[in-house]
Amino acid sequence: MPRRRNRGLVDAVLFDLDGVLTSTTALHIDCWKQTFDPLLAQWGQAPFDVDRDYAEHVDGKPRYDGVRDFLRSRGAVLPEERIVAIGDSKQALVEQALARDGVEAFPGSVTWVRQLRARGIRTAVVSSSANARQVLRAAGIDDAFDAVVDGGEVTRLGLRGKPAQDSFLEASRRLGVRASRAAVVEDALAGVTAGRAGRFRLVIGVARNVARSELRDAGAHVVVDDLGELAA
Ligand SMILES: [Mg+2]
Repeated sequence: MPRRRNRGLVDAVLFDLDGVLTSTTALHIDCWKQTFDPLLAQWGQAPFDVDRDYAEHVDGKPRYDGVRDFLRSRGAVLPEERIVAIGDSKQALVEQALARDGVEAFPGSVTWVRQLRARGIRTAVVSSSANARQVLRAAGIDDAFDAVVDGGEVTRLGLRGKPAQDSFLEASRRLGVRASRAAVVEDALAGVTAGRAGRFRLVIGVARNVARSELRDAGAHVVVDDLGELAA
């Protein structure tokens, strides 16, 4: 069936995954905490703060960048091989949790994605997660996107991760849509920053873990609590 011509504000919408399409944020936070807390205890430091530490230093970034930035915030500068080992142990916990608990997509997000596609708007997933494809499949929404740029591809293509704009620009290039005709949807401060840095037409913040005012201060044009609010 030919797609109807879209005359709206944008021709494509680029979605972050964790916290935007799927409820995997709590799983990630929990795995980070399990990874960091024993280290912090050894150093006599306060445990990983699931709100502040996660939002300011880890959320939305490539895995090793998150490890490096968080530990630096606690005054620890570790050799790169140690950063990688810490990141990899977190990844192993994520894989166990995904296999054990499964993944749910947010119903409001799925409704809006399906409506966009029915209107001829192209959709992509842009995630720092190396598990993005596995998560999309587990949530039953891997058929709803024209392109996926995940953490593995960011590394393979030598792109800078969020808060740099590279991964979103790569997705819009794959869809054949200019940034000025595409929207970015993000729940992380790093992702909102990336959307603005890429000069996308619209940056939509989803206020799940971060306050509405913080997403707005980071540059989100529009902030919602749930993407179902945007569904017609
Ligand atoms: Mg996210």
